[in-house]
Amino acid sequence: MDWARRKIVYVSGSPEKFFGVSREEFCKEPTACLRSMPDYNRAAMLGVSQELKTQRRVIKVVRAQGQDGVLRTLRCSAQLVDIDGRTLLCGSALSLDHAEAVMPAIARRRDIDTAREALAVTDAEGILTYFNQEQAALFGYDHATELVGQSWRILYPPDAVHLIETVAIPGLSARGAWRGRLMGKRRDGSLFDEELSLSRLPGDGIVWNGGSASEEKTAAERLIHSEALFWALLNAVDTGVLIRPVGGAYEFVNTVAANWFGLDSVDPTQPATGGKQLIDDPIFASWEESGRKVASTGERLIFDFPFKRGGKEWIFEVQKTPLFLINGELSHVCTLVRDVTQQRLLERQAEATARRTMEYGEMQREFISMVSHEFRTPLTSIQGTHYLLSKKVGQLPVEQANSMEKLLGLQNEALKNLKELVDQVLLLNRLEHSAPGEPMPQVGVADFFSKLIDGLNVSVAHKRILLELALPENFTASFDVAKMRAAFENLVSNGLKYSADDTKVRVKVMLVPQGWGFSVADCGRGIPEADQAKLFQPFHRAGNVQGVAGTGLGLAIVRRVVDYHGGSITFTTALGKGSEFLLVFSSPQSPEPDSVAISPVLGSGAIKLPIAMTRPPF
Ligand code: ADP
Repeated sequence: MDWARRKIVYVSGSPEKFFGVSREEFCKEPTACLRSMPDYNRAAMLGVSQELKTQRRVIKVVRAQGQDGVLRTLRCSAQLVDIDGRTLLCGSALSLDHAEAVMPAIARRRDIDTAREALAVTDAEGILTYFNQEQAALFGYDHATELVGQSWRILYPPDAVHLIETVAIPGLSARGAWRGRLMGKRRDGSLFDEELSLSRLPGDGIVWNGGSASEEKTAAERLIHSEALFWALLNAVDTGVLIRPVGGAYEFVNTVAANWFGLDSVDPTQPATGGKQLIDDPIFASWEESGRKVASTGERLIFDFPFKRGGKEWIFEVQKTPLFLINGELSHVCTLVRDVTQQRLLERQAEATARRTMEYGEMQREFISMVSHEFRTPLTSIQGTHYLLSKKVGQLPVEQANSMEKLLGLQNEALKNLKELVDQVLLLNRLEHSAPGEPMPQVGVADFFSKLIDGLNVSVAHKRILLELALPENFTASFDVAKMRAAFENLVSNGLKYSADDTKVRVKVMLVPQGWGFSVADCGRGIPEADQAKLFQPFHRAGNVQGVAGTGLGLAIVRRVVDYHGGSITFTTALGKGSEFLLVFSSPQSPEPDSVAISPVLGSGAIKLPIAMTRPPF
């Protein structure tokens, strides 16, 4: 039977709205009308008529385009009815668009988990009028349209259908929403765990919001597992951890803290007990106070907390740290407790040792200073007697006078050495215990070195050694004059002492990238390699200087002076050729030199040789 060729006997409503043709057109010329319809509409009509060939009642969801051009989802039902021996076809179409229209509103409803996207809608008769792709996939269907028009019951096994009918839908009527877990049935008949939410729609429709419970179960299990790991970690560390919400009781006390404080540890999943003991104990009053401070200021607090229990004593370092939620709200205060008993003991011991070392150092300084001064008094009186004796020598017979003069000469040498030793011990002692405090004066470097060289010329007058000085002009540097003088004199005196007659000792003052410096170079005996490492140690003298008087303190003094000024000292040496000591300081200086003046200064009797020294002699 080709229904399209039959006469339409009655059309109610406005078919043009759904199918784009008027009631009159439909009734007059159904075949032509069908032909002129948009593709959607013709397919829909033919689909229904096709099914009517094999069954008497057809309910089908189709898409059709109305006169206004809008494509709508229609639920078409058609039925063959026998009246007076004639078979009539009764058809109706119902727009399901209301289901789509309510979707955004549904999505906003609080009782629907918007994170789950699988959605279906049934009408008052329990027929699926909307079924989205996610929901289709959940139930193993390829297309959502395969399900529209069917009863929701095909999606569930009998037990679940019973549950929905007897529990879920009545619950839904009572509260407007229902949520539960049941078995869903896939297209292939296999079952799965479904987490289902139902929400009522106006007009007794229902929104079905499903999701695979197994995925949620896995996620929940994962969460539980990682949480368990987290608590296990907190229990495994050797730091006490206590956590409580602001203004609330302790929610967590780890095993370490529980053992220290004799508490029942608090399982975060159980009501707090041990933490309560802690709050109530007056010993912990300072904790409470600091916890309140952290909660009100949001700032971390660290303090030491001495604690006694069962005859044992501890010192704990307590750190109260605020815990903030993602939205910035201060939610909990976490207390971290470290056992620092041993550490504090060692710190106290180290402090005591340092104090004692300082005291010993101070005692040593005072002792050396006292002894040196005590030496000076008898030394001065021996020098006085020596002077008187030397005056009397002239009154003795010539022979006696000669031998007496010899003895007095030896005595004079020994006195000089002893005096130098006492002076150097005193100076070194002072240097050992001095650190830069006051800002040091700016000194005109050229003037400073020229005067020193002049002074030295007088003292080395007996030796035919040329002291040569190379200076850049116009620069000042800040240093301690007395200390720098001591360093310089020791270096120059060594240069003179360990050089042969008629050689040169060259002093060069210079500006260097780090600041300024000076070098003292001689053409003397040099320093054996074996002695070089110990050269700056007090009292160390090299193996090749026997017969030359010295104390072994000069270079130790130079080193202390360099340290005092934060400078550096280096030397180069070659046996039988000479040595050069270079001192460099990073003191501020001004202004930049614009020329280099060379002023040779000569020891008396020396030949005038204006040589500018720019390189070491070897
Ligand atoms: P000393 O009073 O013996 O000169 P110093 O501390 O000044 O003591 O020097 C330590 C040692 O370093 C000296 O004894 C000497 O062996 C060696 N020394 C220092 N300067 C020179 C130098 N310019 N030439 C050779 N040896 C030197």
